[in-house]
Amino acid sequence: MAKIIDGKKISQQIKDELKEKVAKLKEQGKTGALAVIQVGEDPASSVYVRNKKNACAYIGIESLAYELPEETTEDELLALIGELNAKEQVKGILVQLPLPQHICEDKVIRAISPRKDVDGFHPQSVGAMTIGEPGFLSCTPAGIVQLLKRSGAEIAGKHCVVIGRSNIVGKPMSLLMLREDATVTVTHSKTQDLASVCRQADILIVAMGKPQFIGKEYIKEGAVVIDVGIHRDENNKLCGDVKFAEAEPVASAITPVPGGVGPMTIAMLMSNCVQSIEEG
Ligand code: NAD
Repeated sequence: MAKIIDGKKISQQIKDELKEKVAKLKEQGKTGALAVIQVGEDPASSVYVRNKKNACAYIGIESLAYELPEETTEDELLALIGELNAKEQVKGILVQLPLPQHICEDKVIRAISPRKDVDGFHPQSVGAMTIGEPGFLSCTPAGIVQLLKRSGAEIAGKHCVVIGRSNIVGKPMSLLMLREDATVTVTHSKTQDLASVCRQADILIVAMGKPQFIGKEYIKEGAVVIDVGIHRDENNKLCGDVKFAEAEPVASAITPVPGGVGPMTIAMLMSNCVQSIEEG
């Protein structure tokens, strides 16, 4: 029976630590706001944005909501980001993705000042992470490192296989595990014999975006399994990329969906905001 890695509990611990830190920073006169921009009314995005605002309120930082209509032009959005970059009190800028098709996401990400890039998506943030310089870490991968560390999983020297090489999960995940001294293998849609590569993993991190794809034949006895995927199954229940019922008896520890990686992403976003306020 695997240990269940409780992302809800660990993210709550992190938010409580951040709440204390924010109170101390306030005493030193250090405050700041997170600007959250949403373009259009995608229902999933609205839920994420609301959760981010609630998390800000919980840890005690101000959030500024910019809810822009679907027909907002790229120039208008870039102008708003320019204004927010110049505002002293705004310490973090988050543009909820995906954006409507007529707006170039890359341009928007690059327009955010790296000093306020609390999502960690700006090429400068990614570069700094790659060479181990200070900067904002991409939230989901940073959250996974915290999940592993706080649940007592050893990382240094272990073989970590990451499934997926996206810019927001797979790639930064593999770089962060390398930074933690794991031996890292990155796999993707062109990898041959994925199962035999995965069976070598002490830590298997699955971010492939394929509902319940990974069964027991991909998992070494005693491996730690981290499931990043989020989907709705045929009964409209949340599920991950891993077949939990099959994986759980083989793994030594595993994250559930929901309640695993998901809650960590917002906790790490809050951590980046607090880091930004601290740095002034
Ligand atoms: P993506 O679609 O951008 O990338 C998927 C990756 O998986 C690609 O690099 C692809 O090469 C690889 N892949 C696809 N099929 C494969 C196969 N058969 N064999 C090997 N590799 C394969 O997805 P993403 O943005 O990285 O997200 C992955 C999943 O994580 C999604 O389900 C997404 O919803 C979820 N997600 C969760 C959080 C969270 O906070 N929990 C955050 C981001 C993404």
